[in-house]
Amino acid sequence: MSSQPHPRSRPRNDRMKRITARLSRWFEHQARDLPWRRKRTGYTGLISEVMLQQTQVDRVVERYRDFMKRFPTVRQLAEAPEQEVLTQWRGLGYYRRARHLHAAAKIIDARYQGRVPREIQILRSLPGIGRYTAGAIASIVYGQAEPIVDGNIRRVLTRLEAYEESDQRVNEAWCWEAAHRFVKQSQSPGVFNEAMMELGATICTPHNPGCGHCPVSSACLAFKAGIQDRIPPPKRSARKQTLHLHAVVVRRAGKIYLEQRPENGLWSKMWQMPTIEAPRRLQSTQIRDALALTVSPLRQRVCFEHHLSHRHLIIDVYETTTRVRRGTWRSPDDLADLPMSNAHRKVLVLVGE
Ligand code: SF4
Repeated sequence: MSSQPHPRSRPRNDRMKRITARLSRWFEHQARDLPWRRKRTGYTGLISEVMLQQTQVDRVVERYRDFMKRFPTVRQLAEAPEQEVLTQWRGLGYYRRARHLHAAAKIIDARYQGRVPREIQILRSLPGIGRYTAGAIASIVYGQAEPIVDGNIRRVLTRLEAYEESDQRVNEAWCWEAAHRFVKQSQSPGVFNEAMMELGATICTPHNPGCGHCPVSSACLAFKAGIQDRIPPPKRSARKQTLHLHAVVVRRAGKIYLEQRPENGLWSKMWQMPTIEAPRRLQSTQIRDALALTVSPLRQRVCFEHHLSHRHLIIDVYETTTRVRRGTWRSPDDLADLPMSNAHRKVLVLVGE
């Protein structure tokens, strides 16, 4: 059901100025100490924003330093082999981002002398850089009055304005427009945008927001009306597709057989133990027949579930041996440098590697 926009759904300039000023002051004192905030350049902004697209801040903190140590400049990233970039992306998931980042670095190196562009339209033309990431780099790194809207900012904006529209498209368009109006009123667009994100991540949380110590509670229309808990309205989540994966750990002479996934689709070009996908659970004889190499009968070891954004994976793990020598074989101690999904790394752990 769609509700009518709140009568004050277009915030006034003076009120917006007060909110942006208070939030910016609050952020300057409360900002978490994150490694990419210590040294702001176009490159650090690009790397951190792409990493943060679908990964929790804590996980990005763990991986960011190593990634920057290995690829300290756009050129070093652009010139690295793709497999190495994917390996350094380990633990961050959604490897398509790493491929796009690598492609973007090549373009920036070749066309822009290794400097991450300031212009929003050029940023948005780079692989993997959408409206949010381009806005974040343009505002946070280069200080331009560009809006950004992610889940945190959407929650803060809709609560500040008590905006209850449940139609996702209308809500999204309203948020971008409101974010734009706010950022134009701020003295420092980058600080304001980060402050909004920080408020959403630390105080204006989805459940039990900490309105009692929120720096903008006196201006928050949802708080005044006591309706902050029902804003934003819950999204109707799309049903996840369930897929059965049958991962087979094939051993010979202390080594494990590996194959590379196809270029397109899930975990593209990553390495794995042979894995048969099916809409339902298969018998071990069916799995054995579907393998590309001749193996001994399969022994089932364990089954676990793995959730991706659009898929629910049920993974049955088998072990077997073979006499086949061809193909790619690695000792278990020698797998860390291969790009491999978290699910397949878990398979290895579950079989004792
Ligand atoms: Fe969010 Fe509460 Fe602050 Fe409003 S007062 S912005 S609901 S934390």
